[in-house]
Amino acid sequence: AKQNGRNTLIFFEHEMHDRITERFTLEQELRNALQNDELELYLQSQVDKEGTMIGAECLVRWMHPTKGLIPPDDFIPLAEETGQVVKIGEWVLSKACQTLSQLPFAASAFSLSVNISAQHFQQAGFIDFVKQVLAESGADPRHLILEITESLLIQQPQKVIADMQTLADLGIRFSIDDFGTGYSSLSYLKRMPLNELKIDKSFVNDIPDDANDSALIQTILAMAHHLGYTVVAEGVETQTQHNFLASLGCELYQGYLFHKPQPYQEWLNNIASLKPN
Ligand code: C2E
Ligand code: CA
Ligand code: CA
Ligand code: CA
Repeated sequence: AKQNGRNTLIFFEHEMHDRITERFTLEQELRNALQNDELELYLQSQVDKEGTMIGAECLVRWMHPTKGLIPPDDFIPLAEETGQVVKIGEWVLSKACQTLSQLPFAASAFSLSVNISAQHFQQAGFIDFVKQVLAESGADPRHLILEITESLLIQQPQKVIADMQTLADLGIRFSIDDFGTGYSSLSYLKRMPLNELKIDKSFVNDIPDDANDSALIQTILAMAHHLGYTVVAEGVETQTQHNFLASLGCELYQGYLFHKPQPYQEWLNNIASLKPN
């Protein structure tokens, strides 16, 4: 038994060593990725009740030279730990603003949403960076939505709210992402200049069969509407889910039932073939 325990320990040591090495390599490779232009932008269109495209969310992917396409869940958490998420966020934001200024019907009500990590938002100079990108691209700030999460309010909520207000005064809108998965402080939410609330896919998955999730969604929608927010349901994959959400007055939808995330150029070609709405 003693020998066994020893072997287990050695096994764990190897395993840990492997993980640390892998992490270190990935971190190094991510640094190169930014330099070598290996990040790719995907866009997932969002629709209203009638199925009309009203916007899209910007989603980053990493085209690794040997490992292929790496989804954000496999590198954003590391990028947050190492601070590289700031550079990644800047890249996505620039690309989004350039795209906005090039859209064939920029005057219509079409918006692009960008995920902003808490670390990026709290970076000194974030507001100046946003202003600069808007000025350089000529994008209309009223067509830009920044998606933030509840974790942004853990530190210095007063300052965060003041900074959000500065950006909101430019016309930028704010959306609270993955609503319900973090620790919600409704009293802070109420004080933020929010326009939109996104219901996380995990709540949408099992509706209407799951009574708890159904009740939760009903409550979120009622509360959001009471506070004057538009609601986006994420991860809508079935007509049944859509019908249930529509019956509760959910305004916007993002999910495979309507559109999957598409590579930048493919998405742009699709948009170009649409008529202004
Ligand atoms: P998120 O912000 O909640 O993004 C929605 C995710 O749900 C996307 O995954 C999207 O592809 C997926 N999704 C949408 N509809 C459906 C559906 O009907 N079925 C299924 N199975 N999935 C659906 P993705 O692109 O893998 O992104 C994962 C997460 O990575 C995002 O979650 C976001 O937290 C993060 N992320 C992505 N891009 C960025 C970025 O540019 N910056 C930062 N900071 N985070 C990002
Ligand atoms: Ca998001
Ligand atoms: Ca989300
Ligand atoms: Ca999510």
